Amino acid sequence: MADIIDGKAFAANLRIAIALQVADIRVIYGVTPGLAVVLVGDDPASQVYTRNKTRQARETGMASFEHRLPANASRQQLLELINRLNKDAQVNGILVQLPLPKQIDVEAVIDAIHPAKDVDGFKPVNMGHLLIGGEGMVPCTPQGCLMLLKSRFGDLSGQHALVIGRSNIVGKPMAALLLRENCTVTVAHSHTRDLPEECARADILIAAVGQPRFIQGEWIKPGATVIDVGINRIDAGDGKTRLVGDVDFEAAVKVAGAITPVPGGVGPMTIVCLLLNTLTAACQQHSIPAPSLGGAFPKAP
Ligand code: NDP
Repeated sequence: MADIIDGKAFAANLRIAIALQVADIRVIYGVTPGLAVVLVGDDPASQVYTRNKTRQARETGMASFEHRLPANASRQQLLELINRLNKDAQVNGILVQLPLPKQIDVEAVIDAIHPAKDVDGFKPVNMGHLLIGGEGMVPCTPQGCLMLLKSRFGDLSGQHALVIGRSNIVGKPMAALLLRENCTVTVAHSHTRDLPEECARADILIAAVGQPRFIQGEWIKPGATVIDVGINRIDAGDGKTRLVGDVDFEAAVKVAGAITPVPGGVGPMTIVCLLLNTLTAACQQHSIPAPSLGGAFPKAP
């Protein structure tokens, strides 16, 4: 049976390390990192995500500011809010919860966020830094996946990594990060011809497809490390719903060397990396040395 990679426990420890740093910089420099979370509309899943982000920011001693706009808010209203947050010195990071209502185009919104406050790492300038090896904000979900991998392997050099999915928020930045770690990286997508064959070669398999239990246990290379990014809500059969990943966990756990569960794997890492990015952004904006999390955690990318 595979080792279960406990993202929830890892994230909880990392949150403590972040809280210590937040306390330190408040005492030494008089700075309290601030995160603004913007929610447009009333999508239930988005409400849960934004509530968790705001709560966890507060728990680590940061200031958190929640902004809600109605589902029929205009693009102009949202851009004006972002503009105010860009100028607000108490706000070091801005997160606009996706997806947005149809009338507001995501690109314009990402474009409006100041690059130094782009704690999601979605702006082209930050994506560019990621590709060329510069210093910029790294998207939270792939950053969290990489931390889990480095905590298991240390050095990832030479590993065959397969990233399934090529979205701008998960697949592409994940592939860029693994390349930076000297992995041999394959990116699969909906046009990939023989996905089971690609999986069979992968020492590290990252699934970010958005289809429940899509990756079959028998596709996985025995002993491989499987990181399941997927969050899919399915009918549990008893009138309730439950969350499953993109990997058929029950089958994969018998073949893989290590695997992340859903829930409790990548999800908690995404939020804690948002907090880490906010802390980093605050340090950069106040010319404070980069946060040091101690030897227990792999260095942030
Ligand atoms: P997208 O829908 O943007 O991308 C899905 C990707 O999967 C696309 O690149 C698509 O290929 C590819 N794909 C679809 N079908 C297949 C197939 N049959 N074979 C191979 N590839 C396929 O999703 P996201 O990247 O935004 O999210 C992926 C999953 O991760 C979702 O379940 C989402 O909920 C979850 N997620 C979890 C987070 C967390 O914190 N744990 C954070 C963000 C997302 P193509 O490009 O060709 O269409």
